Amino acid sequence: MNILIFGPNGSGKGTQGALLMEKYGIRHIESGAVFRQHISGGTELGRKAKGYIDRGELVPDDITIPMVLDILKAQAGKGWLLDGFPRNMEQARKLHEALTQAGMKLDYVVEILLPRKTARERIMGRRLCVNNNNHPNNIFIDAIKPNGEVCRVCGGALKTRPDDQDEAAINKRHDIYYDEKNGTLAAAYYFKDLAARGETAYIELDGSRTIGEIRADLLAKLN
Ligand code: AMP
Repeated sequence: MNILIFGPNGSGKGTQGALLMEKYGIRHIESGAVFRQHISGGTELGRKAKGYIDRGELVPDDITIPMVLDILKAQAGKGWLLDGFPRNMEQARKLHEALTQAGMKLDYVVEILLPRKTARERIMGRRLCVNNNNHPNNIFIDAIKPNGEVCRVCGGALKTRPDDQDEAAINKRHDIYYDEKNGTLAAAYYFKDLAARGETAYIELDGSRTIGEIRADLLAKLN
């Protein structure tokens, strides 16, 4: 099973992606995480990519595309969930070309839709419980609003993550994602067109709902 997942930062892509990996026993190939591994391992590739990543820019295609395609080839036949790639039209075309050449089928493309304003609020509204990072608290989501000033699960103190409050950084990431001409949404629509021609299946999920609702919708749309 080979799956591609799209969704802006703040859409719950990680959560739904985890569900897909568990259901199909497939490997997570996350371009951002691969870069971070290269950086911490001190590789040549990591050294080249670091400056772009620190500035919140895309790493150039001549570095990113071969890196991801090599991992996909090594994983051929075992199944994967590709996350964070493609992020522009060139990456989309090259991915399609490589899959065709390798005779690899793309079973599903999943897009989690969320208005930009909502995605930004979700990130900025996140609150971390000092007792447990997994206790869900968000001042902008009714279903998981904190209990006053404290954690809704255990009553622990709440804090924010500094990068969640950096509006300029969030905007930069969303500028790339929501660009329908050459950005990540353009790449998603490239695969949506392929789905219209029967080359793959395209699943759209309304990301403004609760995690459980999105999960149920996703499960119903698979098969
Ligand atoms: P992420 O963890 O997905 O937010 O990725 C972290 C950073 O890695 C991004 O801000 C980019 O600098 C870089 N990156 C990840 N995926 C790609 C990609 N497909 N193309 C270019 N740069 C990428």
